[in-house]
Amino acid sequence: MKKEKVIIIGAGPCGLSAAIELKNIGIDSLIIEKGSVVDAIYNYPTHQMFFSSSERLEIGQIPFVSERQKPVRNEALNYYRTVATRTGLRINTFEEVQHVQKNTDYFQIQSVDHKGTEKVYQAEFVVMATGYYGQPNYMGIKGEHLPHVSHYFKEAHPFFNKKVVVIGGKNSAVDATLELEKAGAEVTVLYRGSDYSTSVKPWILPLFDSLMRNEKAFIHFNSIPKEITKSHVVYVKNDEEHSVKADYVFAMTGYQPDQPFLKKSGIELDQSACPIYNPNTMETNVENLYVAGVVAAGYNNNKIFIENGRYHGGLIAEDIQHKNRQ
Ligand code: FAD
Ligand code: NAP
Repeated sequence: MKKEKVIIIGAGPCGLSAAIELKNIGIDSLIIEKGSVVDAIYNYPTHQMFFSSSERLEIGQIPFVSERQKPVRNEALNYYRTVATRTGLRINTFEEVQHVQKNTDYFQIQSVDHKGTEKVYQAEFVVMATGYYGQPNYMGIKGEHLPHVSHYFKEAHPFFNKKVVVIGGKNSAVDATLELEKAGAEVTVLYRGSDYSTSVKPWILPLFDSLMRNEKAFIHFNSIPKEITKSHVVYVKNDEEHSVKADYVFAMTGYQPDQPFLKKSGIELDQSACPIYNPNTMETNVENLYVAGVVAAGYNNNKIFIENGRYHGGLIAEDIQHKNRQ
């Protein structure tokens, strides 16, 4: 059994930031990551441009220089790899934590790597920095799991000349629509809201609106998907049932933390799937078990970002340092 002072679960920007903050107080934590370093960013749409300017994505006070003010996915991948190297972080990639068990004065952590090797660790402190991108918000409608339906958008090219329905009305739905239209897809957006969402970034909204005004794409407001068939999406608008043809469907309905995993670790969640934690220390209801990054926001994908989640590590390091002094 390997013994560690602190184990951080998840090597996203906020997990990396927590590890650097801990290093700054003399604790060399171990990060366990089920995918690659910054795996969520790796899985973003290929041509994703961040809405944040690069300095707002910086961690460990290492400068992030990008070609334009707002970096693209590839620049961010390069930046976070560089940060991990420069700061000498210990990261076990492609190893998934399956169980975190609190014993009297330590945690037992069980994981399995990509070759199926099981590992067991002991740690005094654990930081859950597991994000939300692995768990889409399912609508719970018939046909949602058909092979032409996806909750992730990667690239537009394959959808040239295809009828595509995009579900949702926030940034992922808007970005996907813009790219799909550019690549020659016939796009219809089904949005349950009655108007454009105020969460849509102001610099992409005019482009999206222009597509709708010029009938290059179509949007149906107040439209709630009811069923997806092999050929159509059936939706309800003003109590009436309608349908729209679809070769492919992108349900950009947002993401949520891995609730079963958090609960199994003893973390209580409120009705919005938010872990119960002290915002001054990020410690959860389980003593010495912390949350960092977007995992702390529950269903609300528009509350915590890298921009503010990167500061959670500092709070955690301060609290652990305080406990160590007692
Ligand atoms: P993540 O980056 O999601 O990292 C969590 C990590 O934990 C993942 O690598 C995952 O593989 C790992 N993990 C999960 N479970 C386990 C387990 N059981 N065992 C081991 N590892 C596990 N925010 C901004 O501030 N600015 C932006 O411009 C911005 N753009 C975004 C664009 C898109 C398309 C999306 C989806 C989000 C964007 N965000 C942005 C929001 C958010 O800040 C990012 O998603 C960011 O990656 C969150 O960082 P994190 O470290 O909290 O979580
Ligand atoms: P999101 O912000 O949670 O939006 C989800 C959308 O799906 C909302 O419009 C929501 O409707 C709708 N929805 C949710 N459940 C539904 C259901 N059951 N039936 C029908 N519609 C449903 O998710 P997101 O757009 O994927 O964004 C996720 C995160 O990524 C956010 O932090 C966002 O800022 C970030 N992001 C950033 C960029 C960028 O940097 N350029 C691009 C994309 C995403 P309501 O509007 O009614 O809630």
